[in-house]
Amino acid sequence: MPDLTPFIAGLPKAELHVHHVGSASPRIVAELAARHPDSKVPTDPEALADYFTFTDFAHFIEVYLSVVDLVRTPDDVRTLTFEVARDMARQNIRYAELTITPYSSTRRGIEEKAFMEAIEDARRAAEAEFGTVLRWCFDIPGEAGLEAAAETARLAVDLRPEGLVSFGLGGPEIGVPRPQFKPYFDAARAAGLHSVPHAGETTGPETVWDALRALGAERIGHGTSAVQDPALLAYLAEHRIALEVCPTSNIATRAVEDLELHPIREMVQAGVLVTVNSDDPPMFGTDLNNEYAVAARLLGLDERGLAALAKNAVEASFLDAAGKARIVQEIDTYTEAWSAR
Ligand SMILES: [Zn+2]
Repeated sequence: MPDLTPFIAGLPKAELHVHHVGSASPRIVAELAARHPDSKVPTDPEALADYFTFTDFAHFIEVYLSVVDLVRTPDDVRTLTFEVARDMARQNIRYAELTITPYSSTRRGIEEKAFMEAIEDARRAAEAEFGTVLRWCFDIPGEAGLEAAAETARLAVDLRPEGLVSFGLGGPEIGVPRPQFKPYFDAARAAGLHSVPHAGETTGPETVWDALRALGAERIGHGTSAVQDPALLAYLAEHRIALEVCPTSNIATRAVEDLELHPIREMVQAGVLVTVNSDDPPMFGTDLNNEYAVAARLLGLDERGLAALAKNAVEASFLDAAGKARIVQEIDTYTEAWSAR
């Protein structure tokens, strides 16, 4: 097998499932921790690397929340967002839909208009400096219940920042049925936002059906368990409803037991539009380039196959037609130049 790493590193890519706070690399966390010395998060890069080594899922949640706690001011929000874009640009990510949980920040006392200005300012600066185009998905933290859902919908609809394209739902699935969020998704969709809930990551295919029927899902976050239901796979394939697959995340959270058993092959074989994403990359010890390498191995892809995978993400994105055509052109130009070497 040829080493595909250099090809992947230079391949122009789009990412559709990646969380804002969950993208804070040790470099970014160190910068934020230095601003807030009362936090228990270490500022030294080596100590931070240890801090980011998770013993189990509960430990992961603890670390995640300690990083949430470092984002206290609009300037912290701006720094986090802009620096995440820098890390994306280094991987040749040309476009990303970043999932943001505004409820976590406004509930912690960041003024809501200042929050929107901070992310928008970072978005414009990142596009100007790195050429990476950012769009937002505002998601409901499912574990925080209907109050959080109502607040997230209000922030999305009433304060809608220019970069906002979609409305999501994250957090645990067990004990958090999708249909209860229907009114909030209805409101967001009526305002023109796309529906992209997480579903079928830790529960069965019926949760994916719920997301489709009750929430009008246009893409599914994870959808790992969809492979247990051939009718569901056929429905997803027929309607070009993409799955946002995050292989390394699925192992880290134990949604999938073993990478070799990851159902991505069955998804592709069923004709489903599969995209590959990194979810909470530094926290899972990965990045998008690594997820492409994992997908190449699991699916037996060569350079052309990887280019096609990158184009899947562009197709499934909420970019306008001109934006999609531009990135597809970049992918084609890059791939042709690579084969002509
Ligand atoms: Zn996620």
